[in-house]
Amino acid sequence: MAAIQMKNIVKTYGDGFPAVNDVSIDVDDGEFVILVGPSGCGKSTLLRMIVGLEDITSGDMLIGGERVNDKAPRERNLSMVFQNYALYPHLSVYENIAFPLRLSKSFSEEEIDAKVREASKTLELDEHLQRKPGNLSGGQRQRVAMGRAIVRDAQAFLFDEPLSNLDAKLRGQMRTEISRLQKRLGITTVYVTHDQTEAMTLGDRVAVLRRGILQQLAPPRELYEQPVNLFVAGFIGSPPMNFMPATVKGDKVELPFATVDLPEHVRDGRIPEDTLLIAGIRPEYFEDASVMDAGKAADGATFRATIDVVEWLGNEAFGYIPYEAPPEVEAQLEELARELDSEALRTQIIVALDSASRIRDGEEAELHVDSRRMHLFEPGSGDNLTLRTVADDERSAVA
Ligand code: ATP
Repeated sequence: MAAIQMKNIVKTYGDGFPAVNDVSIDVDDGEFVILVGPSGCGKSTLLRMIVGLEDITSGDMLIGGERVNDKAPRERNLSMVFQNYALYPHLSVYENIAFPLRLSKSFSEEEIDAKVREASKTLELDEHLQRKPGNLSGGQRQRVAMGRAIVRDAQAFLFDEPLSNLDAKLRGQMRTEISRLQKRLGITTVYVTHDQTEAMTLGDRVAVLRRGILQQLAPPRELYEQPVNLFVAGFIGSPPMNFMPATVKGDKVELPFATVDLPEHVRDGRIPEDTLLIAGIRPEYFEDASVMDAGKAADGATFRATIDVVEWLGNEAFGYIPYEAPPEVEAQLEELARELDSEALRTQIIVALDSASRIRDGEEAELHVDSRRMHLFEPGSGDNLTLRTVADDERSAVA
């Protein structure tokens, strides 16, 4: 196993368009890193450059500390698992796992047998060795594909959207399975997906890409709580963060439906007053005021709104408030909605309600918004102006 280092990687195609633009990512030995972003962001191109299926225009690719820019794919000793697992349907599970070993011609029959048996034991496939892939469940097929990767003693696993052909239920199961196996085997893994749920649940760290540029590389929780810009904030989280215009006046923030307190850690003048900003508030920072703990009311503001649709999911509910982005932020939100393929982003506010809430479709209700975890973004650059710095964290630890 090995670390993978991408240093200032650039890929331009014939037309001069940078599909990957100065990306630097260090994947530690044994780490699970996800490359995520909307279609065309360059994630597959980056993965293909790690494997050696695509030339690198400039920058350095290091595997196990060794520069591999000019090495052929097979010399890099990586193992790629594709969308359809690329299993041979006419070969048994045993032969599918043994395939790369036979291909390399450097192992005796005894060695091959020992390796296949060891891998199949690890993957709990020992009972299925004589079956054909067509007779296996999606999960078992996935394990055969991983078995083929394990027997090769590859330096790292690379996955390119392996679950995107599966139905939602199987995708969920496979996610857990991949996560479990990766932890058990401790194999360095880079995994490409456009699905933010997969990114959030699988990776030790997640790299969010947009138009070939790395936006943020961080553990899932940090991405969720501290998105560096509007794009990451909108991409990570389901249902997505709500965006609306905001203006700071002193220690207050004027929102379209209420005036709330400015989050405490940014009450030091770092946020410009009287200029148009975009506020980002996640659905769970809203609540039905009538079922809320009395103690919570101090930390925000209440307002009245008509919720036109309530989706009750058992343990929680989502309420939808129709909303039209006002002209001053329409252009930014329209671009974001298009990029994230989420038209709803600029036409509604989504609020997560407690399952005890009795708000019905079409009802006007009193809602509460907790502004302490509100984000404020600069509309031009999209930068998050409310990111917590190390000094902020130290201050709140003392307080
Ligand atoms: P998807 O999820 O749709 O596969 P992606 O994020 O993996 O998207 P890439 O396939 O890496 O994106 O493509 C990144 C950009 O590079 C896109 O704009 C794409 O059009 C462009 N691109 C990819 N392959 C080529 C090629 N062979 N020649 C020219 N441009 C290409």
